[in-house]
Amino acid sequence: MTRELLTGWGRTAPTAADVVHPMSVDELAAGLERPPERGVAARGLGRSYGDPAQNAGGRVLDTTGARGLIDLDLNRGVVTAAAGTSLHALMRWLVPLGWFVPVTPGTRYVTVGGAIANDIHGKNHHGAGSWCNHLLAMTMATPAGGKITVTPQSDPDLFWATAGGVGLTGLVLDATFQLRRIETSRLVIDTDRTRDLDEVMALMTEGDDRYEYSVAWIDLMARGASVGRSILDRGRFAHVDELSAKQQRDPLAYHAAAILPMPFVAPPKLLNPLTVRAFNEVWYRRAPRRRRGHVATIPAFFHPLDAIHDWNRGYGPAGFLQWQCVVPIGAEETMRHIVEAFSASATTSLVNVLKRFGPGNEGMLSFPQPGWTLSVDLSADAPGLARLLDRLDDEVLAAGGRLYLAKDSRMRPSTMAAGYARLDEWRAVRRRVDPDGILQHDLGRRLGLV
Ligand SMILES: Cc1cc2nc3c(=O)[nH]c(=O)nc-3n(C[C@H](O)[C@H](O)[C@H](O)COP(=O)(O)OP(=O)(O)OC[C@H]3O[C@@H](n4cnc5c(N)ncnc54)[C@H](O)[C@@H]3O)c2cc1C
Repeated sequence: MTRELLTGWGRTAPTAADVVHPMSVDELAAGLERPPERGVAARGLGRSYGDPAQNAGGRVLDTTGARGLIDLDLNRGVVTAAAGTSLHALMRWLVPLGWFVPVTPGTRYVTVGGAIANDIHGKNHHGAGSWCNHLLAMTMATPAGGKITVTPQSDPDLFWATAGGVGLTGLVLDATFQLRRIETSRLVIDTDRTRDLDEVMALMTEGDDRYEYSVAWIDLMARGASVGRSILDRGRFAHVDELSAKQQRDPLAYHAAAILPMPFVAPPKLLNPLTVRAFNEVWYRRAPRRRRGHVATIPAFFHPLDAIHDWNRGYGPAGFLQWQCVVPIGAEETMRHIVEAFSASATTSLVNVLKRFGPGNEGMLSFPQPGWTLSVDLSADAPGLARLLDRLDDEVLAAGGRLYLAKDSRMRPSTMAAGYARLDEWRAVRRRVDPDGILQHDLGRRLGLV
């Protein structure tokens, strides 16, 4: 056990905890024994932006040592993996065998436990739903019940309270989930560069259902007639006969590595309004106006940011935060207003993504609901940021939407409660499985969940 200072991916609000590094799922389960007064939190790869994997003054269990495949049925594509297994490792093992993870976020450096705790979504949410739609069973350790196997049939309340329940209903020790079959490790991508927000939303509304994966990058620093100009990438996995002769020799080849280190000799704040505005301009202009059938690799399409090691240092010592909302279909005016507000503000934002969600699942605190989701990276020291985001939170709530806990580092407890209508139901499950409130973390205390 070591005393460590921890932050989320945004590098704001560091707090110190006693960090334990279990090396197996049994050692991970033992992490709940003799809990300190400030309780116990799990931590995966620390890719949540805010503080759900920190526990000031308490114990933090680093799950990443409890990793590896426990069972694999290659005929059905069903895998059981220890909770600390990363999606990066899963892809390295499974892609060459013709299987892909059911859902991947914008980084492959997340653990299976973290994927469940935030019920993560990817570019295929409109068709495939989020991670827990593909989760068949999990082994958990809860303070009240010890080690148990939980399925949607055996204990639906605990299953769906854990899906998106930010690790506060028990430790996930391992998970069994359904993979997606692939013929090749390449994707066929169609790209459209749009003039403004209206055009990209119209294209997504009209055509997303024809694609398995869809995502739009928005230039949130563009102003005037260009507000919301975007690059929309949509695609599906390629068939073997769509690859070049060279690619066909090894259709399931998979190579993914972080190649570029963040330049430490760079100015302390590489991503500032000047550099980001210039980058956005170049990025937008170099995208083709309309391109069909471009063949791309898994890392290039799903995880471009992973190519730069530690890119989260680019915002400088103050760190950064991400704000992600969803508003229902029909609330397009609200989305337009949000995009306009960011464009008119003094904020610096580079990684801004618009997606169209399909139906949500039964996860009590699961984020996705049918609608438009926008995620925005923001330098934490941008002038007027707190006021701007509080105002936008209110607009999101007024439209019937909510904010994503995996990205949050600053919302008010009342915003959380207003966005998640099943919070009381979730609290009741938590009281059953953790009556003494042993599972704790900074986000849980900040938002009044624990
Ligand atoms: C570049 C980037 C892009 C991203 N893109 C997306 C995206 O497209 N879609 C999306 O949904 N998310 C996205 N995310 C967020 C990320 O997918 C989630 O925050 C995810 O939960 C991180 O997993 P982790 O292993 O790092 O967990 P951590 O951040 O370490 O922990 C997250 C939560 O999981 C809990 N937890 C971890 N392991 C366990 C366990 N074994 N048992 C119980 N609880 C556990 C922790 O207590 C904590 O509450 C992105 C993040 C980054 C940095």
